[in-house]
Amino acid sequence: MEKFDFGIIGSGPGGYTAALNAASLGKKIILFEKDLIGGVCLHKGCIPTKTLLHSAEIYQTAKNSSSLGIDINVCRLNIDKIIERKTAVIEKLRNGLERAFKNAGIVNVNAKAEIIDKNTIKADGKTYFCDKIIAAVGSSPKELPDLKFDHKLILSSDDVLNFKNFPKSIIIVGSGAIGIEFSRILSAFDTNVTVIEIADNLLPNADIDVSKRIERIFKTKGIKFYTKTSVEKVEKLDDGIKVFLSNNEILESDCLLLAIGREPNKIEKIEGVTYIGDVLNSIQLAHFAIKQALNKIMQIPFDENLVPSVVYGMPEIAWVGKREQDLKNYKKTMIPISALAKSHCDNSLDGMIKILTQDNKIVGAHIISNEASSLIQQLVIAMQFNITAEQLKSVCFPHPTYSEGIFECL
Ligand SMILES: Cc1cc2nc3c(=O)[nH]c(=O)nc-3n(C[C@H](O)[C@H](O)[C@H](O)COP(=O)(O)OP(=O)(O)OC[C@H]3O[C@@H](n4cnc5c(N)ncnc54)[C@H](O)[C@@H]3O)c2cc1C
Repeated sequence: MEKFDFGIIGSGPGGYTAALNAASLGKKIILFEKDLIGGVCLHKGCIPTKTLLHSAEIYQTAKNSSSLGIDINVCRLNIDKIIERKTAVIEKLRNGLERAFKNAGIVNVNAKAEIIDKNTIKADGKTYFCDKIIAAVGSSPKELPDLKFDHKLILSSDDVLNFKNFPKSIIIVGSGAIGIEFSRILSAFDTNVTVIEIADNLLPNADIDVSKRIERIFKTKGIKFYTKTSVEKVEKLDDGIKVFLSNNEILESDCLLLAIGREPNKIEKIEGVTYIGDVLNSIQLAHFAIKQALNKIMQIPFDENLVPSVVYGMPEIAWVGKREQDLKNYKKTMIPISALAKSHCDNSLDGMIKILTQDNKIVGAHIISNEASSLIQQLVIAMQFNITAEQLKSVCFPHPTYSEGIFECL
């Protein structure tokens, strides 16, 4: 039986980070992947969505460019090219990962792995002994008992990322990060989007001011939504679907995206095996899987309460720490992004920065702004290293920038 220091199952952010870091310590690694190297993040998640989003943003900017003094005579979507570019980006990153595996001497088995015991993995009819096993097998889109994917009319996020053409209309059930991102991408590509959310507000996991602001932004962008509403029944038609809502309204649409969350992929649960990433069904984000891998392999500590969330689109949404609705005895400062000179320069006035403190300690930060995905990092650093609001305020912030909004709040 072949022997290895680490047997790693899954090649998403959790698996590839574990494999490459363990290899850098001189360990002998075998990695099992039943599909393509890169996992959900590279093939069905972070990367294809952000690549499509970039095209969507450019299209919207181009369509609205005359107010910036740029007249574009023909502004047309070339969907084949948009999809070709998305595939090319994925391929380039996948090749990079495969090269990195090869250079690191990682043995790569393209097969479904089964964990036999805490030291044994079986794949492709062979058995491998591994001193340690890490399972980073990820998650898959969730269905409802009476609303199952048919991959034509009732779609998962994987199906939407395989679109060869954008539909004229779509109903998106669920307004978590995935539902909100697809609403923004598809609506920017001129699809008529309607979001159905059972909770009281859109993006129910976010701070209440963020949810309310996003609802305002959706209204101005013409993205229809229903809150406190559920889907009672879906009827399939020859050319689309009919959706019966709990408020007795009936909607028709080309298709429906079910974005109600993801469930962990199935794998044997065995004591002594380390499980990381989406399969844990806790925080389902690529950087969480990466940090867990680094923690398990390199013993780099990290605070699971300070994992930032980002929802991409125009403008970006990002937050870390506590939400206002979860706090008592706190101080809140909030400024609109339009208070910042940079937002006027960029013609991007929608958004806000909100910082929550308790005894001068920053306990939560919530941002809707261009560059929010990077801005939030300043607050994550401050919170992780107990830098107080007073101390952070004493730092010099460049002008004109969105980060001045953090200074203004402090
Ligand atoms: C549409 C969408 C957009 C997203 N956008 C973002 C984003 O912008 N930022 C962010 O942080 N997160 C985002 N995510 C979430 C992110 O993709 C996941 O959190 C991340 O991929 C989890 O990494 P992982 O290593 O746990 O597993 P995965 O990336 O899911 O990888 C698991 C791998 O394991 C393989 N596997 C499973 N079982 C076996 C087996 N038995 N044998 C061999 N191989 C197996 C699978 O084929 C897969 O390749 C998004 C997700 C989706 C769906």
